[in-house]
Amino acid sequence: MGATTSFCRLRRVCLTLVITAILLAGLSGVARAGCKPAELVVAIDAGHGPKSPGATSASGQPEYAFNKRLAAAVKDALIQAGFAKAFLIDPVGKDLPPASRAARANAAKAGLLISIHHDSAQPQFFTTAVIDGTTRRVCDRFAGYGVFYSGRNKQAASSLELAKAIGRELAASGLPFSPHHAADIPGEGRPIVDPIAGVYRYDGLAVLHAANMPAVLVEAGVIVNPAEEHALATEARQTQTARAIARAVSAWCRERGK
Ligand SMILES: [Zn+2]
Repeated sequence: MGATTSFCRLRRVCLTLVITAILLAGLSGVARAGCKPAELVVAIDAGHGPKSPGATSASGQPEYAFNKRLAAAVKDALIQAGFAKAFLIDPVGKDLPPASRAARANAAKAGLLISIHHDSAQPQFFTTAVIDGTTRRVCDRFAGYGVFYSGRNKQAASSLELAKAIGRELAASGLPFSPHHAADIPGEGRPIVDPIAGVYRYDGLAVLHAANMPAVLVEAGVIVNPAEEHALATEARQTQTARAIARAVSAWCRERGK
């Protein structure tokens, strides 16, 4: 009798635990279903600014000009994909420090942040070339994109998933990943966490770790490489990159909504 009673009690306890687990799973499903494109606020950052423009391209153009054009294209592609609340953190160009950009995204209650940059290389890899009659410092050794996430971001796991989704879409669109930031030399040494998608971990990026939401930084291509600069300046390449990012955000959002 006693054994039967405790068995029944045990069964009741087990049943209660199972029901509780089902209810909790259901509730978490409801909570995660919040990622709806029309409601998700996507903050887009054009890296650097007019006064501190970042790298200088092979032909002498400021990185910020590339970032600004591509950030606008990313915003357009996201809006076309249904992310009506996508916005540029600083459409004017006020040379905000990286943490202030994250603070603006936090204030706007953004659900994710994408920082757009164009890449350079360490000084020892540069040579000189005459471009349009002017001698320039160039580097044709590296070409391709790279996606960064910070392990110090408050939502590092989601940031990494987003970084992988963006890298996968960029690769699927035919663009190469440039692994040159992983080199064991001063100024580099960033670990590659996904060599197929082309994702680095870089905890020190303030625009990423000061953000409350999942955040990634995209180096869209190497502008100190003359051939890649030429490609990056075309509307076709900007659209290709922007649409790949928008597809990745859609996929990431769908996955979170499950
Ligand atoms: Zn930059």
